[in-house]
Amino acid sequence: MVERSAIRILVLDDESFMLKLLNRVLANLGFTSVILCDSGRVALESIDANSRPNIILLDLNMPEMDGIEFVRHLVERHYTGSLILVSGEDERMLQTAEKLVQAHKIPILGHLHKPVRPESLSLLLDKWTPPSSSGQGIPKKVYHAEELQAALNNRELVNYYQPKVAVASGEVIGVETLVRWNHPVDGLVFPDMFIGVAEAFGLIDELTQRVFSNALIQAKVWREEGIRLRVAVNVSMDNLASLSFLNFVADMTAEVGIAPQDIVLEVTESRLMQDTRAPLEILTRLRLKRFRLSIDDFGTGHSSLAQLRDIPFDELKIDQGFVHHAWSNETLMAMYEASLSLARQLGMEVVAEGVEDRNDWDLLQRTGCDLAQGAFVSRPMLPAELPGWIEIWHERVRTELSLGKR
Ligand code: C2E
Ligand code: CA
Ligand code: CA
Repeated sequence: MVERSAIRILVLDDESFMLKLLNRVLANLGFTSVILCDSGRVALESIDANSRPNIILLDLNMPEMDGIEFVRHLVERHYTGSLILVSGEDERMLQTAEKLVQAHKIPILGHLHKPVRPESLSLLLDKWTPPSSSGQGIPKKVYHAEELQAALNNRELVNYYQPKVAVASGEVIGVETLVRWNHPVDGLVFPDMFIGVAEAFGLIDELTQRVFSNALIQAKVWREEGIRLRVAVNVSMDNLASLSFLNFVADMTAEVGIAPQDIVLEVTESRLMQDTRAPLEILTRLRLKRFRLSIDDFGTGHSSLAQLRDIPFDELKIDQGFVHHAWSNETLMAMYEASLSLARQLGMEVVAEGVEDRNDWDLLQRTGCDLAQGAFVSRPMLPAELPGWIEIWHERVRTELSLGKR
């Protein structure tokens, strides 16, 4: 624990009355190393003069330089401390501002409404930890295409599986396969670190085909053990640029002997497509062959209404950003409910992602969402763990969730 008096706090607010008030509150809480600034310009001068604040209490609404512009200047100066936003604006505005700050990778402890309550301020300040112990600032490793190609050749990519369960009955309906890289030096590497590289360097076809065939073979093994599940595979838009993917998927599925209805292709558009005709044609033909199509991360990026209009999806996955904590947040709730109702009207099955706790689960039940996926049900696991997990889950369904047999 760092002594409160040793934590350097800069308070930036254009109202001198607020500055005095916050200064008093901070002093009462034991924070005595405080710098008061009544404009962004003064605060930046202080930082340039090496005042090195650990935490900045930042008012969003200021004449001249507002809080958001101030954050931009902090980014330019590679500010390494944390931020607390303070404003009289409504909750939604504060949340939007918080997102903006996060996008700049500046650690944010939270936001406060004016008038500031000392207890709330104290709680937020206590969240601060020195950068060395908080793990922040570790640069993200970037992998080269050659390394990824070698990993493909050496079969270092492994499929993990995360269950999708029916909310009403608790029944395990299927699994989504999520790729990981079992890196000989770095350990288990997550897809966010290499899918982009694969897409940029023309390796995504090989990667998806590898993941797809692993998943199909695994599905077959489970079937032989009496576990019949739908298997979902993530498909990149880049996979849908040529006919080779369609042919591969159709041939492989026929060869392994699994019905296309039991295979779900989850599609996200990670960036704007130049030419949407090819993916449209390929998705439509996959659908005609009875593969199930799912629109992934709905509500984010480009997974949106235009896609829903153009492609005959069977399933809509509400992005985890609109699910976790929606029960306590009006904005998220509105987005969650709108997505749910849109899917209903189009006759699609709905999966809520990011179901992390009992409150999230209860919301899904109240609102009649079809399927749930997330840590509350299970984190992604290795295939060998699935049969054991199913038994434990069935037990939870009966006891903790009191579903099923009534
Ligand atoms: P996604 O398709 O949206 O997959 C869901 C992600 O949410 C997974 O991250 C999963 O581990 C994570 N997750 C599951 N439950 C929870 C929860 O309760 N809370 C939170 N916060 N997260 C949860 P993962 O495995 O790191 O995958 C990230 C993304 O990488 C995937 O997002 C998908 O877009 C992509 N990806 C994964 N495997 C493949 C693949 O084989 N091919 C392609 N093209 N993309 C893949
Ligand atoms: Ca997915
Ligand atoms: Ca998703």
